[in-house]
Amino acid sequence: MKASNLIFATQRENPSDAEIVSHKLMIRAGLTRQVSSGIYNWLPTGKKVLHKVENIIREEMNNAGAQEILMPMVQPISLWEESGRRNQYGPELLVFQDRHENEFCLGPTHEEVITDLCKNILTSYKQLPITLYQIQTKFRDEIRPRFGVMRSREFVMKDAYSFDLNQEGLDLTYKNIREAYLKIFQRFGLDYRLVKADSGAIGGSDSEEFHVLADSGEDLLAFSDKSDYAINAELLVELQEDQDPASLEGKDSPDGKGKLKLKRGIEAGHIFKLGKKYSESFNLKVQGDKENITPYMGCYGIGASRIVAAAIEQNHDDKGIIWPNSLSPYEVAIVEANPKGKEDISAKCGEIYNQLIENKIDVLWENTDKRPGVKFADMELIGIPVMIIIGDKALESNQLELKIRKDEKPLMVSQEDLLNTLKELN
Ligand code: ATP
Ligand code: MG
Repeated sequence: MKASNLIFATQRENPSDAEIVSHKLMIRAGLTRQVSSGIYNWLPTGKKVLHKVENIIREEMNNAGAQEILMPMVQPISLWEESGRRNQYGPELLVFQDRHENEFCLGPTHEEVITDLCKNILTSYKQLPITLYQIQTKFRDEIRPRFGVMRSREFVMKDAYSFDLNQEGLDLTYKNIREAYLKIFQRFGLDYRLVKADSGAIGGSDSEEFHVLADSGEDLLAFSDKSDYAINAELLVELQEDQDPASLEGKDSPDGKGKLKLKRGIEAGHIFKLGKKYSESFNLKVQGDKENITPYMGCYGIGASRIVAAAIEQNHDDKGIIWPNSLSPYEVAIVEANPKGKEDISAKCGEIYNQLIENKIDVLWENTDKRPGVKFADMELIGIPVMIIIGDKALESNQLELKIRKDEKPLMVSQEDLLNTLKELN
């Protein structure tokens, strides 16, 4: 992509309503713009990051054998009456009427729609187990939308739903999706913890959350310094009765291994064994060998748009975002450090640009006539992992200057070594 064809929309000032750094940087780097409280536009650079998040999720869900579908955002409220959740869900459910005075809601989640759908498409036990997922826009009328897309009203979620013949089947499917989630979070390149999310989870693991570690996280996590034991601190306090969560630091880990450490986390994913709650209320049955079987369900969410904010919350400095390679809107930026319109510099940039594209490297060519200093600042704000700087110096010495966003130490490489060096950096 050439910068001359792009809307960057970077800005130097922090938005006045932004409390946390990811919100500030997403506006300043031109990733998003607010439309209304908790409702955002995604600009080209932001959409590219969101797309990378979604594609990592998509690939690993497909690898795990799940099948992608797309369900509607608008749901008839009658489905919520059938599940008994209409009143239980509360005011986060945005309900409205169509011209015929039929009631609908904007989907905050899709257990009702998927169970209703599966009544239609699942007939025989031979079709199970099956996991269906979508990557789709959700709406929750949050009481206090804040932190930009971190807690917005409209957001993008990957939600998956599994159907199994019995509890053992559900246990296996849950384990399989859990494995897929570990791969997904690994590929995001984020420091995360998998934590037990409910008391039932102490023995088994009926509900677990994936948290991205960051000081601004809303949840306090307690985890062992010796094992992979990790739990929501509030929950541990409840289980151990009237302690202050902060007092857990340094105590023995409940699994008998090591001491507890406390850190804050951002809930980014949630996996959950639902059992027969929805299949029973919707009377979903498949024909078995001898009798009809009510399937055991599981549900598995990842907040795709929240991941973008969480990644920034964890990876930034005072110049801007520092993307993990897998999420960066571009893998590499070529910065044309021009004395305006110098043709041989432009030609060299073009040559390298084409070479990178041929090698399937996602590259941005900063070819505008902005001052080099402004270009550098923009690329650092947007957080692109590697800048290749091409100016007079590069032409004369036949050496390209690489600036690595993470450690900022410049690296000199010849054009012949460029591809190998980029590969090594990745
Ligand atoms: P929270 O406790 O943060 O409100 P939740 O328990 O309501 O989350 P789930 O219903 O489990 O969330 O939704 C699955 C995922 O969707 C969450 O792990 C989170 O990543 C994302 N998510 C939930 N609410 C929002 C929101 N308001 N804005 C952005 N992402 C959200
Ligand atoms: Mg919530």
